[in-house]
Amino acid sequence: MRSLLAALVATTCLVSVAEAATVFPLDRATILAGSPFDMKVEFDAVVAPGDVTVTINGEPAEKVLGKSVAFVEKEKGVDASAVIVRAASIAKPGTYTVEAKAGGETKTVVWEVFATPSTPTAKNVIFFLGDGLSVAHRTGARLMSKGMHEGKADGRLNMDDIPPVAFIGTSATNAVATDSANTMSAYMTGHKTAVNAIGVYADRTKDPFDDPRVENIAEALRRTTKKSIGVVATSEIEDATPSAVVGHTRLRAEKAALVDDFFAVKPEVILGGGSAYFLGKATPGSKRKDDKDYVQMFRDAGYTLATSKDELATAAGTNSGKILGLFHTGNMDVTLDREFLKKGTVSKFPNQPGLVQMTQVAIDELAKNPDGFFLMVEGSSIDKMSHPMDWDRALVETIEFDKAIGVAVEFAKTHPDTLIVVTGDHTHGVSIVGTVDDDKPGADMREKVGTYAEAGFPNYEDKDGDGYPDRVDVSRRLMLFANNFPDYYETFRPKLDGPFEPAVKNEKGEYVANEQYKDVPGAVLRTGNIPRNGDTAVHAVDDVVLQATGPGAEGFRGYMEQSDVYRALVDALAIAPVQN
Ligand SMILES: [Zn+2]
Repeated sequence: MRSLLAALVATTCLVSVAEAATVFPLDRATILAGSPFDMKVEFDAVVAPGDVTVTINGEPAEKVLGKSVAFVEKEKGVDASAVIVRAASIAKPGTYTVEAKAGGETKTVVWEVFATPSTPTAKNVIFFLGDGLSVAHRTGARLMSKGMHEGKADGRLNMDDIPPVAFIGTSATNAVATDSANTMSAYMTGHKTAVNAIGVYADRTKDPFDDPRVENIAEALRRTTKKSIGVVATSEIEDATPSAVVGHTRLRAEKAALVDDFFAVKPEVILGGGSAYFLGKATPGSKRKDDKDYVQMFRDAGYTLATSKDELATAAGTNSGKILGLFHTGNMDVTLDREFLKKGTVSKFPNQPGLVQMTQVAIDELAKNPDGFFLMVEGSSIDKMSHPMDWDRALVETIEFDKAIGVAVEFAKTHPDTLIVVTGDHTHGVSIVGTVDDDKPGADMREKVGTYAEAGFPNYEDKDGDGYPDRVDVSRRLMLFANNFPDYYETFRPKLDGPFEPAVKNEKGEYVANEQYKDVPGAVLRTGNIPRNGDTAVHAVDDVVLQATGPGAEGFRGYMEQSDVYRALVDALAIAPVQN
């Protein structure tokens, strides 16, 4: 019996070894016709070069890809062989079956190469990405900004009038859960990839810059059109989401290299934080390890530099056509701090523009191009404030994001050839459960949480009509909870002293509840439900909602993989018509 089992196990292993090679692009990849991509086959063992065959639809790979195939006998740090084809492309749409063989290993994958319609439906695309944008953020922003009585909202967000048209599956190639790198990369390249990867498939070697590349939308637009490109974010501009418009690396943390990628593509408008990666290492505060002064390099390339909201206004008036706006060394402060509480790093960076101004300047500047434009606008800190469960900051960020959408909606009224997409990259595990009412008797904050009928309605006010609540610390506030968290003290109150830091590291390197909040009256300790190396709440696997309006919006329907969104975008712009 034992030997029979052993034989069975051995057979199973043999079979799995024989099919173990990995081919990038992965099975079921969708590839834009004519777009450059790297193909890589990773064999599981060292194989002889003469033993290797890679065919595509039965023909030698090099013939179909138009590029020579490089054989690597032993990959660095890996005791196995690979073949790599750099910057391959396939012009003719259709189904392509790739078969790789060496020794006992075979692997078959199928790619779909697609062309776009020959006539564009949209001239401009404005892609709004609310980082971490979940349904609770939208509901909370509406309730906080507009109010509600007798169960009906007292007003509508701008995004409320953009039809929700698709649910987006955000999972990565290596996990159901996901981060902002691989998710935005899927939107911007049409290929799904692994957590932390941007513009590349994640291969097995350590080098974060040798992975098989795929073309991103900025490169595709440069290759096929004369359109302008804009990237706007409230985070560091070389953070995962904005850099996925232009970048290639296995590791999103390679931020200096992602600035190199920005310079290679040179979007006409670049607005955000993250100046520390634009300055050579000799400059105080620089986070580069080389001497490259990208501020000077962009200037030499004809860009007007802006480092404050006033300079941004001036740059917008100079007609330079190219603006580099860097308003913070790191992530820009959130709206609640920037405009109202003056906390965070606002005393150090007192003159930062908001997303609304940045969006307006970007659209005005890009719209000067008669060939049209692609603009990506990220509300970065919806996510950055949802991680620490700082819901007031996250909701006010969502309101600001919505106001930026309003700028685009206004533009589209006079430019109906503009496709507007509004979506998130992934969700957070957050819900609104009711309210918390300070006027309920007693000191126990938990007993002041109103659920069901006890919730009533929150009493935020917007007397000055700016769309933001005049204050967030009203007596009856929205109560949001994350469904996952490290150990932390729930205070049931807005964090007026600056962004919330729920957990801090102990001497064992584990995250424990931040004692700073222990003595807030009524605070309760919540024992975490995520591993102890996690300092904040994490992303959820739930689908995100995608909304679209304008020409090309019909390309988004039902459930879509995140990578399929790319196809709808390039279809609208018709950047790869079928070649006859
Ligand atoms: Zn996040």
